Amino acid sequence: MIKNNGRFIIKFEEQDKEFVENLDWEKLNEGYDKAKNFFEYEGEISPIRINLIYSPEEYLFFSGYLKHENWMSACAGYHNTIYIFAPSVIEKYTIHKKEEILKTLIHEITHFFYGYSAMKKSMAKLSLWDEGIAEYIAEQNNNKEIDFEISTLSNFTDNPSKNYILGYRLIENIMNYFGDGGNKKIIEFLTKVVYAKSEEDLFSKFEEVFSMDIKTLMELKGGIKK
Ligand SMILES: [Zn+2]
Repeated sequence: MIKNNGRFIIKFEEQDKEFVENLDWEKLNEGYDKAKNFFEYEGEISPIRINLIYSPEEYLFFSGYLKHENWMSACAGYHNTIYIFAPSVIEKYTIHKKEEILKTLIHEITHFFYGYSAMKKSMAKLSLWDEGIAEYIAEQNNNKEIDFEISTLSNFTDNPSKNYILGYRLIENIMNYFGDGGNKKIIEFLTKVVYAKSEEDLFSKFEEVFSMDIKTLMELKGGIKK
C-alpha cells in the first residue's frame, strides 16, 4: 500500500501499517527542515519517496550494490527515493533496530540536500563530510573516539566506517565552536575545495577557512584518543 503524508510518500506492506501510522512524522519533518537549513537550500525536495524493503535481494535490486552486508539498512536512490528495510524485517536482516528507522530516514534526507546543494552551489562532494553532516543532522552520535590517524579530509577508502566516526565529530566540533555560523564555514570550505587536487590542498584550505588545523579543532572538545 501507498500512503501520502505531506512531503513524503511511503510504500509498505500490510504488516507495517501500524508502524507507518505511528511514525513520528513531525520529527521527520523537523529533520528535513534541519537539513534544508544547514545547506541553506532554497526550494524543496518533494516528494520524498520512502520504499520499504523486505529482503536483501530486493535491497540489491534497488541499490545496485553487489553484496548486502548486515550493517546496511538504507540507501538513497533516484527520484528522491529512500530504500530502507521495513520495520517488520530490519532486525532479521540487519544489525539495526526498528527504533533507528526515523534517524536513518533523516540521515538519508540529508544526503539528498547535500547532493542537490553541491550541484547548485558547486560544492565538493566528499564522503567524510557527506556522512558526517548526515550523522550530525540525524543526531546519530556514535560517541567513538578518534583512535586513528586523520590521514584524509575526503574519504577513508581503507575503512569507510572512519568517515562516520570522524565525520560526526568533525561537524559537531565545528558547529560547537562556530555556533550559528558553523554551517556557513562548512559550505565555504566545500565550495573552496571543489577543484582541490590533493589531500595537501584540502588540509591547507581547511586551515584557511577554519583558522586552525584539524587537530586543534578536534581537541577543542576532546574526541581524539590521547
Ligand atoms: Zn550515509
